[in-house]
Amino acid sequence: MKRYKENQLKVYNSLTKTKEDFTTITDGYVGMYVCGPTVYSNAHLGNVRTFMFFDVVYRYLLHLGYKVRYVRNITDAGHLENDADDGEDRIAQKARLEKIEPMEVVQRYTVDFHDVLKNYNFLPPSIEPTATGHILEQIEMIKEIMGKGLGYEVNGSVYFDVLEYNKKENYGILSGRKVEDLIHNTRALDGQSDKKNPQDFALWKKADKRHIMRWSSPWSDGFPGWHLECSVMSTKYLGESFDIHGGGMDLKFPHHECEIAQSKTCSGVTPVNYWMHTNMLLLNSQKMAKSTGNFILPNEILSGENKMLPKPFSASVVRFFNMQANYRSILDFSGDALEASEKGHAKLMEAVNFLDKIAPGKTSTFDVQKWKSACYSAMNDDFNTPILIAHLFEGVKVINLIKEKKASLNSADLETFKVIINEFVFDVLGLMNENLQDNSSKINGVVELLIKLRKEARENKDWALSDQIRDELIALGIQLKDGKEGTTFLIN
Ligand SMILES: [Zn+2]
Repeated sequence: MKRYKENQLKVYNSLTKTKEDFTTITDGYVGMYVCGPTVYSNAHLGNVRTFMFFDVVYRYLLHLGYKVRYVRNITDAGHLENDADDGEDRIAQKARLEKIEPMEVVQRYTVDFHDVLKNYNFLPPSIEPTATGHILEQIEMIKEIMGKGLGYEVNGSVYFDVLEYNKKENYGILSGRKVEDLIHNTRALDGQSDKKNPQDFALWKKADKRHIMRWSSPWSDGFPGWHLECSVMSTKYLGESFDIHGGGMDLKFPHHECEIAQSKTCSGVTPVNYWMHTNMLLLNSQKMAKSTGNFILPNEILSGENKMLPKPFSASVVRFFNMQANYRSILDFSGDALEASEKGHAKLMEAVNFLDKIAPGKTSTFDVQKWKSACYSAMNDDFNTPILIAHLFEGVKVINLIKEKKASLNSADLETFKVIINEFVFDVLGLMNENLQDNSSKINGVVELLIKLRKEARENKDWALSDQIRDELIALGIQLKDGKEGTTFLIN
């Protein structure tokens, strides 16, 4: 039986602001869309937090036996500098500043993004569509919205009519904002906006002369609006209605609100069943900003090339640190916090590495089944990773008691215990056993050294020493094999 049949997952739905039973549209299948990065600068640590959490969501859904189609886009068509839909596209701006082609900017930072994800042990999504690869579909969606009477053209640009939409639907359903209040909060630039109402947002913008990234359309040479690509790519690959849509909470408004309006206008149905949003990441208790210097790149944490950190930290420690906080809480990133996590991570890995050395006892002094279901309950409760980690540390305590011969597990319980720890630590949380890799490379080095010393002993005809090295290695389970190319070894 698939695990999801016996695990009722609950998901906090940002739309209803309640934890709800997770029921998929099609039994056994999950469609999940997460807003990806805009590739005009290096991957941002706050975004990495979001993507890392959804990586764990993806991993847990797979662990439960769901077939998951996970779509995470790459925004390479450029965003506008401000919500008023005027100003310069950020990718074009970067290209102009650095005197390179916009697609060079896109390429450089897409490679950087993938490099970060690889270093931090992310599973690749099922589909990673790009905005520039879906311009035709975006134009088609604009036509559809105009056909429903909710899009209007002014001077080559097309806008979504929020007030008209709001007559029948609820613009603000996700963010809780009221259309009337938005008038006061929207900074309309005098004389520069063609919009009927300040709340309206752009579906297509006519490009001015300095705009390098542009495509032809029935309305003008221009580029799609900020929110359109996600409506297009999510529904293209996941259907008119799909299960999960995720992103950072800063995307709730206007981005996700606009996505709902666009998609619902076209299909007439609710596009997303569960909206999930991750909270902010602070750096040293403050908002991260390049301008104030309170800023760190994900790869700098690994290399230690940032003055804000006392030393480099491993990707697995950073993952562990992230998962020690609930995704809906603010996370405060700092060198001190990472050092504390590093200690916890080392303790966990040391215990995990000892698992294989544990022999079954006659009886069990620990209720493995109860502990196992507590681990699942934590994850079933809206992916509560800090609680899962607390349960994993109960497991660490048991391992340490077994080490001291103060506890035991019978063979069936021991087997379950090992499987659960390994599955949650590596498959679900995506942690990496760096200690083991470190140690195995050290062991290899030591054996190579002994082989060298044995060769020297043989050259000196010191057969007694050469045999002693060989025999004592065999006693440790390491077998030497002498061949034409030299001596190799096998660790049993
Ligand atoms: Zn999006």
